[in-house]
Amino acid sequence: MDYKKILEDIYLEIRPYEKMGKQADYIPALAKVNPDQFGMCLESVSGEVYPFMQSDTRFSIQSITKVFALALVLSLKGEDLWKRVGKEPSGTAFNSLVQLEVERGIPRNPFINAGAIVLTDILLTELKDPDNEFITFVRALCGSDSVNYNMEVAVSEREKGYLNAAIANMLKYHGTIENDIEDVLMFYFKMCSVEMSCRELAKAFIPFTNISPFYYSGYKLTSSQIKRMNAIMQTCGFYDEAGEFSYLVGLPGKSGVGGGIVAIYPMRYAVAVWSPRLNSRGNSVMGIKALELLTTATQESIF
Ligand code: GLN
Repeated sequence: MDYKKILEDIYLEIRPYEKMGKQADYIPALAKVNPDQFGMCLESVSGEVYPFMQSDTRFSIQSITKVFALALVLSLKGEDLWKRVGKEPSGTAFNSLVQLEVERGIPRNPFINAGAIVLTDILLTELKDPDNEFITFVRALCGSDSVNYNMEVAVSEREKGYLNAAIANMLKYHGTIENDIEDVLMFYFKMCSVEMSCRELAKAFIPFTNISPFYYSGYKLTSSQIKRMNAIMQTCGFYDEAGEFSYLVGLPGKSGVGGGIVAIYPMRYAVAVWSPRLNSRGNSVMGIKALELLTTATQESIF
């Protein structure tokens, strides 16, 4: 498959969308990002890399970080996680509180904010040095030691993070989180603030293609656990747009409000795309379009 040519053709086709949507501005530090940027990178399980345009520019991975957090928590706690978080798609916005109240503090799934805040709480309890251990794990996955938190973004999100604070308070009220609310929120915002490029993200997701045994910085996952993580990415990775993404793209994946999306073609490749302008569901307009065209051109999807 000539992925280099396919990526070039895709870009020509998505150019009409380049001014659609706008970057996340509810996190003040992200409002400053130049919205007119685009990068993409596909990495195959055999190590071929197809970088395109700004594939080496780092951006805020935001909710993509939830995949790394889930991997760590599954490695540490296994099936026990599911006592505190569900595995059903929510059909609501990533930061919605509606179901959390009705369902008495058990988040629908680990990829909505409420679920990821529970993952964060578990990491704070289980890890001796959460800040270091989390970033060491991410660095091991992508093979780059300079990947790091962006404290300006994390602090900026904390200052305006009223909804996430409400979610954390609701979780605490129901006893779903154990640690101090402020500590949980700050570590959650730090994990979201990690900056990576498309090239680094594609590489970091290769282990989730399930091609070989998963063992990174001391954490193991079985192939069955990875298969199930992919199932959750497929059903919950795009919040209230998960069905649409599944319909258009047909791959498991995860988006973030920094404009990044990573998708996985199990046993074959991982592909990351980034463009900061988002649609009303908080997902990258050009990112979704690019992946739709990729799986249409290649006929490579899980369906
Ligand atoms: N840090 C963001 C938040 O909690 C992550 C949301 C996202 O990327 N969808 O609101």
